Amino acid sequence: MAIMNTQLGTWLMLDHVLTHNFDVEIVTQYSIEGKHRYTYAEMAERTFQLMNALDELNLDRGARVGTLAWNNYRHLECYFAVPCTERILHTLNARLAPEDLLFIINDAEDQVIFVEPELVEVLEKIASSIPSVRLVIVMGDESTVPKESQFKIISYETLISRQPTIYAYREIDENTPAGLCYTSGTTGQPKGALYTHRSTYLHAIACGSAAGMSIGPSDAVLPVVPMFHANAWGMVYAAISVGAKVVFSYPHLHPESFVKLLQDEEVTITGGVPTVWIQIADELRRSKVTLPHLREIVSGGSQPPKPLIARYRDEFGISIVQAWGMTETSPLASIARPKHHLKHLSKDKLLDNVLSQGGIPLPGIRIELRDDQGEEVPFDAQSMGNLYVRGAWVVDSYFKGRSPESFTSDGYFATGDVAIGNQDGYFVIADRTKDLVKSGGEWISSVAMEGAIMGMEQVLEAAVVAVADEKWQERPVACIVLKPNATITLEQVKDHLLTHGFSKWQLPDRIEIIDAVPRTSVGKFDKKVLRSQITN
Ligand code: ADP
Repeated sequence: MAIMNTQLGTWLMLDHVLTHNFDVEIVTQYSIEGKHRYTYAEMAERTFQLMNALDELNLDRGARVGTLAWNNYRHLECYFAVPCTERILHTLNARLAPEDLLFIINDAEDQVIFVEPELVEVLEKIASSIPSVRLVIVMGDESTVPKESQFKIISYETLISRQPTIYAYREIDENTPAGLCYTSGTTGQPKGALYTHRSTYLHAIACGSAAGMSIGPSDAVLPVVPMFHANAWGMVYAAISVGAKVVFSYPHLHPESFVKLLQDEEVTITGGVPTVWIQIADELRRSKVTLPHLREIVSGGSQPPKPLIARYRDEFGISIVQAWGMTETSPLASIARPKHHLKHLSKDKLLDNVLSQGGIPLPGIRIELRDDQGEEVPFDAQSMGNLYVRGAWVVDSYFKGRSPESFTSDGYFATGDVAIGNQDGYFVIADRTKDLVKSGGEWISSVAMEGAIMGMEQVLEAAVVAVADEKWQERPVACIVLKPNATITLEQVKDHLLTHGFSKWQLPDRIEIIDAVPRTSVGKFDKKVLRSQITN
C-alpha cells in the first residue's frame, strides 16, 4: 500500500485533543445561572478514568452502553469513553415516554445506563421490565444517588474517582460499531441506526468542512440539538476533532439566559430546530442584545420558515443556514450554501433558490429523486420525487435487520421524504410519506396515536394529521368519527392517551369530529384530503 492505513474513529479525535488542543475550553451551563468549565486536557483525563472504569466492569466488546442524558461534559466523556473501549454508545431520547424507552432499551439490550439525576425516576418506572441492565450510573456525585433504587446504582464521580488518568492507545478496526441511535417508526416500533468508527469520523470531518457546518479551531460551537438526537447532528464530534471550543446550554430552553450564554462565551456557530430560533428571535428583539460573534445558525430537523431566515438576516445580521438529514444519515447529508456564482443573487432570489432549500449534498453523499415506478425525476423546480440517499455515513440496514424494504437493491436508502430539486442543483423537502408528526423537532407517530384513540369506546375511527403551528412547526390534530349517539371531549382523549404511552407534549391540542375519514383509491386514510378539510 502506498498510503498509511490509519484506522478512522473516535480515538483519532481523542489523540488530537491530547497532542494539540489540550488547552481548549469546554463550557457547560448546568442551570440558568451556573456554569462548569474545563479544558480538553481535563476532559481527556476524566475520559480515560471512565474508560478504565468501563473495563473494570468487564463489559463485552460491542456491549451497548446507554445514556439518558442532556448536553453536558459528562455526556461528552461518554461520547469518547464508550466507543474508544469498543463498546457501543447508545444515546436514549430523554423526551420519550417510559413505554418507548422500555422497547428501545430491550431491543438494544443495554447493559449499563448512564442517567441524569433528574431522569432516574423515568428508569425506575420500567426497572422490572429491562432485565439486560445490570448497572445504572447517575451522572453526578454521591449526593445524586437515590437512597432506594430497584437497580444496582452508583454515581458517575464515584465510578471514576480512583481510576488512573491515563489509558494506552488501543487500535480499533474502523468498521467496528461505535454508536447506536433509534429513530421513530410510523407503527410505533423505533428502529436502530448503528454507526461505525469510520462513519462517525468521516461524518465529523465532512460536517466540520466548509461545505458542511464550517467548524474550525477559531470557533465556539453550541449544539442546541440534544446529544441524544442523532449525536447532536455530529456537531460535538466535529468540534472536538478540529479543536473548537464547545459550549453546552441548559437543556430546558430559557431564552434570556441562552442569549446571554451566546454572548458571554462568544459563540460563533450554533445549531438546532426552527422552533428554538423562533423563540430566540423574540428574545433578541425584546432584549436588543447583539451577537457580533455569532457567524451562523444551522437550522435543521424541519424546514425553517422563509420569514424567519429573512428576519435573522435583516433584523439581527445573523445568517440561518438550512441543513437536511436524518438519524439514518448520521445525520448531516446536505446543507444550503450559495455556490460562488450565486453569492451575488438579489436578496430575494438567494432566499428562494438557496437559503430556503434543504441544500446540496455533502461530498460523499449522493441523492436521487425517483417517482413511484423508480424512474429518476429531474431537478426542474417543479417535479416532486421520492428522496433516496447513499454515502459513507448512511446506514445500509437497520439494527437487527428491521424494515429491509427501506433499502433498494441498487444500494440506496429510501428516506420517506418527498423533495423538489431546482435547476441550480439544490433540493427542498416538499412532503413526506412517513406517517409522523414532527413537533419542535421530535416525532409523534400518528399511526400509534390513531390506534390508541380507536381503543376508546366512543370512537369508531380516528385519523391523526399534522397541522402547521407557528411555534412548534407541526402539531397533531385528532379527527374522530364517533359511534352513533356517542360524545367525546378533548380532555377525555388526552387522558386516554396519557395512560396509553404518550407524553404530555405529544397530546393533540385539538380534536375534530368528522362524519367519515376520506380514503384513497386503495382504501387507505387520505391524510392530504383530511388535512385540507380541517385547515380550510
Ligand atoms: P433530525 O431531526 O435530527 O434531522 P430525524 O431522523 O429525527 O433527524 O428526522 C429526519 C427527518 O426530519 C427527515 O427525514 C425529514 O422528514 C425531516 N427533516 C430534517 N431536516 C429537514 C429540513 N431541512 N427540511 C424539512 N424536513 C427536514
